[in-house]
Amino acid sequence: MKHLSLFMGHVKLHIPGPVEVSEKTFRAFCSPMIGHRGQGFKDLYARIQPQLQQLLSTKQLVYISTSSAWGVMEGAIRNLVARKVLNCMCGAFSDKWLDVSKRCGKEAEPLQAPWGSPIRATEIDKKLSTGQFDALTVIHNETSTGVMSPIGEIAALKKKYPDVMFIVDSVSSMSAVPLKFDELGIDVLLAGTQKAFALPPGTAIFVCSPAALARAATMKDRGYYFDLVEFQKNAEQNMTPSTPSIGHVYALESKLEDIFAEGLEARYARHRRTNQLVRDWAAKHGFTLFPEKGFESLTLTCVNNGARPGGRTVDVPKLQKLVKDAGFLIDGGYGKIKGTTFRVSNMGDETEATMGELLAVMDGGMKGL
Ligand SMILES: *Cc1c(COP(=O)(O)O)cnc(C)c1O
Repeated sequence: MKHLSLFMGHVKLHIPGPVEVSEKTFRAFCSPMIGHRGQGFKDLYARIQPQLQQLLSTKQLVYISTSSAWGVMEGAIRNLVARKVLNCMCGAFSDKWLDVSKRCGKEAEPLQAPWGSPIRATEIDKKLSTGQFDALTVIHNETSTGVMSPIGEIAALKKKYPDVMFIVDSVSSMSAVPLKFDELGIDVLLAGTQKAFALPPGTAIFVCSPAALARAATMKDRGYYFDLVEFQKNAEQNMTPSTPSIGHVYALESKLEDIFAEGLEARYARHRRTNQLVRDWAAKHGFTLFPEKGFESLTLTCVNNGARPGGRTVDVPKLQKLVKDAGFLIDGGYGKIKGTTFRVSNMGDETEATMGELLAVMDGGMKGL
């Protein structure tokens, strides 16, 4: 099997992050080290900046943070919430954002949708119209439930409230689906590299609006490591505030080369097709999907382990074991829906052919249950 060629015995990742990293990316990741204040690094960052801007449809400088996504998520709260934040919640990651806001000492209120449902603009409107809030957090693709919230609808509504900072986690969707930062009027858009980018974990990519930078400049206690103003000042010089994971930046350069060689539209279309294959697999075995119809993610599939017509629920750990013995790792459900769901990722470099290999193995696993 091709994916085993670099490391013998490696189990290929089809969990929704970290996802499988290609040999090409690993080679770039292992480039010889350079100094992060030297011309070599500045040239490297300058080379990838226009591609990052094109990827996110923005004129703003795109930043690189050596942290996982939560670092930037917490940073956005510390930099932007002066009065009160509305944390939109519909799954494990978005639910946790409320906790993070509170731990940062901020006034925070939940807007809770049931797990499996998306966040809807009308609900946000009711809350923001109270005038209490100066920030809003939304997770575009809630990875725990496999729900993609309608970001266009939410962004259109948010334009009614220009003073509310619009903070969007696109950790498991950035680069796999179009996200036009400037047009959507987002204030902070962020992602970790180990999901749709298919890089190793440990770095986050994010972009801020001029309004976010202006708000941050007025905030006391925004700290240093995630100070948005520092990120902007340094990015203007093609640098990062502190020593970055330089290997990640090389890996990102390599990945952007892949992304633009394929073409953005082709990349988005490939994710739609590979995702459809997993949905078809689920339907073929009589499973329904966990998300509300019409809001299913395009980068992972959260399968409902409910009673199938004429069938029964499956032993998810056993299915995982059978699939793992054949060389692939799938996820057994997250948080309170562990075991009652399971998840399969089609993020990163997956093609119809590679998804076909996985789904054939999953077919075999179903026979063994
Ligand atoms: C994975 C994930 C996170 C957390 O990312 P870390 O890299 O662990 O910080 C946050 N939000 C979403 C939607 C995710 O999928």
